[in-house]
Amino acid sequence: MKILVGVKRVVDYNVQIRAKADGSAVELENVKMAINPFDEVAVEAAVRLKEAGQASEVIAVSIGPDKAQETLRQALAIGADRAILVLHDGTTEPLSVAKTFKALAEQEGAGMVMLGKQAIDDDCNQTGQMLAALMGWPQGTFASGLTVSGEQIEVTREVDGGLETVALNLPAVITADLRLNEPRFASLPSIMKAKKKPLDSIDAASLGVDLTPRLELLGVVEPPARASGSVILANAAELVEKLKTDAVLV
Ligand code: AMP
Repeated sequence: MKILVGVKRVVDYNVQIRAKADGSAVELENVKMAINPFDEVAVEAAVRLKEAGQASEVIAVSIGPDKAQETLRQALAIGADRAILVLHDGTTEPLSVAKTFKALAEQEGAGMVMLGKQAIDDDCNQTGQMLAALMGWPQGTFASGLTVSGEQIEVTREVDGGLETVALNLPAVITADLRLNEPRFASLPSIMKAKKKPLDSIDAASLGVDLTPRLELLGVVEPPARASGSVILANAAELVEKLKTDAVLV
């Protein structure tokens, strides 16, 4: 079974996000980019299935700019066998990403598509669900545990009341939650090896997919700065007085 894994290049989660001065978009100039954390977990899960003899090949896929090659190399260093970069400058939207994965899953004859539960830049949490609908495949979203047995996969999901385990027939779409695993640290030899693994760059048009955004971004604003606090607790009487007179306590 071939597994396709989604790998999105996003702003590193440690970076303090800023809006551009004209409010037209998030500032990406000179900002550290990284693999979407949920996607790193998805790659690790797919590689573990291959190591357990339950998958034949792990193919990392990114839709993004030429620089997304770096992100794909990270996935290759974790253990993916090869990578496909669908070249696209600018934002990607869940529906067109899902259509791209559909085209690739059909072309590759994939038995599973493993995505992150959400991309931390758009927080959409839609791509896996849309892909499952387009393919007519079952979906196991927010996976925190996976067991493949034959033509079935058991997916443990974190739901409000606890843990829910569902059994799906393969092929299926799985989206990874952070608790699914702890991705391995890519060693220097694996990073060197990753440089030699195949990475194909293709156009979305060759897959018959149009990646032009359907949504218009009206503006990006940063949250209001927090007002400074004050120390008021010399004694309980002072606190009671403040509570009576100040409308807002910070
Ligand atoms: P979203 O629905 O945008 O929150 O994304 C959910 C998941 O879809 C991500 O964790 C990725 O695995 C995959 N995905 C979304 N956009 C891309 C992209 N541009 N390239 C590769 N994978 C993507």
